[in-house]
Amino acid sequence: MKKQIQDFFLPHIVALTPYSSARDEYTGTEGIFLDANENPYSSANGKDLNRYPDPYQAAIKQKIAPIKGVQPSQIFLGNGSDEPIDLLIRATCQSGQDSILIMPPTYGMYQVSADINNVSVIKVPLTTDYQIDTKNVLANIQSNTKIVWVCSPNNPTGNLLKHEAIIEILENFDGLVVIDEAYIDFVIQPRRENYYSFVQLLKKYQNLVVLQTFSKAWGLASLRTGMAFANEGIIKILSKIKSPYNISGPAQQLLFEALDHEKEKNEMVETILTERARLVLELKNISTVEHVYPSDTNFLFVKMKNAAAAMRHLIEQKIIVRDRSNVKLCEGCCRITVGTEDENNALIEALQQL
Ligand SMILES: *Cc1c(COP(=O)(O)O)cnc(C)c1O
Repeated sequence: MKKQIQDFFLPHIVALTPYSSARDEYTGTEGIFLDANENPYSSANGKDLNRYPDPYQAAIKQKIAPIKGVQPSQIFLGNGSDEPIDLLIRATCQSGQDSILIMPPTYGMYQVSADINNVSVIKVPLTTDYQIDTKNVLANIQSNTKIVWVCSPNNPTGNLLKHEAIIEILENFDGLVVIDEAYIDFVIQPRRENYYSFVQLLKKYQNLVVLQTFSKAWGLASLRTGMAFANEGIIKILSKIKSPYNISGPAQQLLFEALDHEKEKNEMVETILTERARLVLELKNISTVEHVYPSDTNFLFVKMKNAAAAMRHLIEQKIIVRDRSNVKLCEGCCRITVGTEDENNALIEALQQL
């Protein structure tokens, strides 16, 4: 029998009565508010921070919903994507007993969050062309496996994972499939071929959770705001176990304003994509560069002939890239974020000197 939504989660989480904040019990905006032990005057710095913010960020979700083509009830906002990553593990996995499945090389937080929660990690590496080894993924799922993590486009390899492979996992794994789309804005293919974010498949798959973030394309890394999209039942559970005021008032205010600037976000993405294409061409002409992998992100995954020497030389020039050369399947590679035109020129010049 296929699981129901509540069966994905630990029984004590399903049964949990969440903290009820003062702002839950009276939701009007007018009145004399003597219910939350706030300072009635102002803030010490005079900045109007004396009232608790909306614990459910309703105004922001109203704005995000039409942009993403979902209902506000299908959105969870977290203190970065890191928060829903941790909450999903805590809500589904019994510490010391259950497991998650990841496909390295991939984003480090899935493993770290599992380790913090004493949840074991089954690793099924990507194939040598950095695609999902579907047969092995399905064969390695155990009865205690609660989540399969998919990062697409993948960090650090930069490529999109094949749609059909992800669908096969969604259809054959009776647990949560979390697809981390942190870099979805930098994918060119969707625009050309009507490829779509998995957000559009939420209706079809009740075990699907999609993560996105404001940290990359939107340029809001310092705000610490990430999104999880899923069916309403899953979002309700995440909202129940988050800390009540997980997005601060100033962050909510700034995010609310930023959402009026989708056009500016798109323009920056276009510039980054132009620079990415130029950087690929330039890097391919550099003798110390062995291979530049195709990228659907705002970074390039690059294989160097002598990674250690290249990295040392770049650091001497105060150019810092991410060394992945000691990671399995990433031997000799580094991850280079696409910078501004000037920054990219400096990088190219430094590498040419080698
Ligand atoms: C950068 C990144 C994130 C974003 O994390 P935040 O906590 O939202 O800043 C999520 N997933 C992957 C794969 C990333 O590379």
